[in-house]
Amino acid sequence: MLFRLAWAIEWLNVADAVNRWGIPYWLEMEVRARDKNCVYCAVLMIERAPRGSSRKAVATWEHIINDARIITRENIALCCASCNSSKGQKFLSVWIASEKCIKRGVTEATIAPIIQLALKAEMDSVRLERMQ
Ligand SMILES: [Zn+2]
Repeated sequence: MLFRLAWAIEWLNVADAVNRWGIPYWLEMEVRARDKNCVYCAVLMIERAPRGSSRKAVATWEHIINDARIITRENIALCCASCNSSKGQKFLSVWIASEKCIKRGVTEATIAPIIQLALKAEMDSVRLERMQ
């Protein structure tokens, strides 16, 4: 009985727990299962780089729309450290058209479906703003 209670408390703690980016555990698990490859350049990501080797392929948390308050499965993704630092605070549409992306072959066609949706939404909102 005591064991069951301890287990239940443990489970509740895990369900409530957030990582240091404020992402709840359940969402972290979901996104980790979905984004094995970088959502931008599709490189197979690693959890951590072996000592002394490049960190480029290390998985990093990304807010697709650059707002840390939007913690949804549509806005949280994993991308490689290289793409994360290259994109920085830029709008998706601006970054994807950058020389860096063109050079690396990162295009609207190669990005993950979740990023294609976000890019389309961004372009639509820019279009709407121009019409007003
Ligand atoms: Zn990448």
